[in-house]
Amino acid sequence: MNATNVLEDLKRRFPNEPEYHQAVEEVLSTIEEEYNKHPEFDKVNLIERLCIPDRVYQFRVTWVDDQGNVRTNMGYRVQHNNAIGPYKGGIRFHASVNLGILKFLAFEQTFKNSLTTLPMGGGKGGSDFSPRGKSNAEVMRFCQAFMLELWRHIGPETDVPAGDIGVGGREVGYMFGMYKKLTREFTGTLTGKGLEFGGSLIRPEATGYGNIYFLQEMLKTRGQDLKGKVCLISGSGNVAQYTAEKVIELGGKVVTMSDSDGYIYDPDGIDREKLDYIMELKNLYRGRIREYAEKYGCKYVPGAKPWGEKADIALPSATQNELNGDHARQLVANGVIAVSEGANMPSTPEAIRVFQEAKILYAPGKAANAGGVSVSGLEMTQNAIKLGWTKEEVDERLKSIMRNIHEACVKYGTEPDGYINYVKGANVAGFMKVAKAMMAQGIV
Ligand code: NDP
Repeated sequence: MNATNVLEDLKRRFPNEPEYHQAVEEVLSTIEEEYNKHPEFDKVNLIERLCIPDRVYQFRVTWVDDQGNVRTNMGYRVQHNNAIGPYKGGIRFHASVNLGILKFLAFEQTFKNSLTTLPMGGGKGGSDFSPRGKSNAEVMRFCQAFMLELWRHIGPETDVPAGDIGVGGREVGYMFGMYKKLTREFTGTLTGKGLEFGGSLIRPEATGYGNIYFLQEMLKTRGQDLKGKVCLISGSGNVAQYTAEKVIELGGKVVTMSDSDGYIYDPDGIDREKLDYIMELKNLYRGRIREYAEKYGCKYVPGAKPWGEKADIALPSATQNELNGDHARQLVANGVIAVSEGANMPSTPEAIRVFQEAKILYAPGKAANAGGVSVSGLEMTQNAIKLGWTKEEVDERLKSIMRNIHEACVKYGTEPDGYINYVKGANVAGFMKVAKAMMAQGIV
């Protein structure tokens, strides 16, 4: 395989999908060497079969807003690869959603799910519908209309969606209700469900907690821990909130959080009580992070990212490409020792180069945020055996999965000088399992 040629070919065949190209390029550039040690892979053109999704569903979603206007959005489901298990990956509702973004997410998800060691393939879906500013009734009608199309393509052994940006417990609940009505079956086809109807304890917390468990493992390799470390978090949604919760619990200090309008900087640290306020503000009142600054009298910077503030650790937890090369240089100049990604692909390729050249600890989302889908996998298992595990049991499994992912990264990513290239480690480890499964299953 020649990574450059494969990428050029994909760009030609699928133009105008820059995020998809970016995600593929990152993986190809790190697995090329390992791939080429296995001539049997190239004989069956494994790489193209792995880069191009198995199939993509694309549909119109029509719903009626509170004023009686008929509205239309686009809906998608990308079923990327099911070599090691049913397709699995979140649903994103955000105005920016398009096919290229979902293809990048589904591609990434395939490697991430492989890393978890659970039997899950990769997929992703969503819509350009934005829940922001919509009433509960509008969100419900949209979720129902979306499921009216999606239901025929998913199932407990086929494809199991979950939440992502703009899709939390509320949206999963509405979609599950419609799915159940259409199929007339109660199955665990969505994860991230409410606790009363098959959801798993620790699922809401899992991505954020998992990221911090992974960070702890990285810090250990340098004889460090989280105590007293100043952390920058971007975002203030599901991932950001539970990342902050775990940092606070382990004695770190969170000084920033953000939303798409700007960020707050609280030099005293966001403590438990202030985090409760953010959770209520975001999850209940669906307000803006600016209101935190007004309440606690701290700095609010509109239209900017938090990466210029001084800290020890950065935890990007909002969205893709939210941290560029300039931000990365600023972080390194300010003495950051670790960057661990809660979001998917938040750092641009240039930012990643800066982190790796500075030899700081850097974990890509594919490894560091795999806790979310891991507990989704555990939710599927609990649904299948019709049992619910305790909080402690799920948390223990989550910790052990994150430790294993870290170990896999160390195994495949340690360079001759001892620096752990977590990007390479995660990509090679994730790739090898999927590749072997595809080889064993023949040309399909
Ligand atoms: P939420 O919708 O709960 O929160 C997203 C947060 O990011 C909000 O604060 C939102 O601000 C902000 N944000 C979204 N888009 C942008 C943007 N274009 N520019 C700036 N800020 C933005 O989503 P999650 O917390 O679930 O997801 C966050 C990230 O984590 C995503 O990359 C997602 O793919 C990834 N992830 C999520 C998992 C999960 O279990 N939920 C699992 C693994 C990864 P605003 O309120 O203004 O929109």
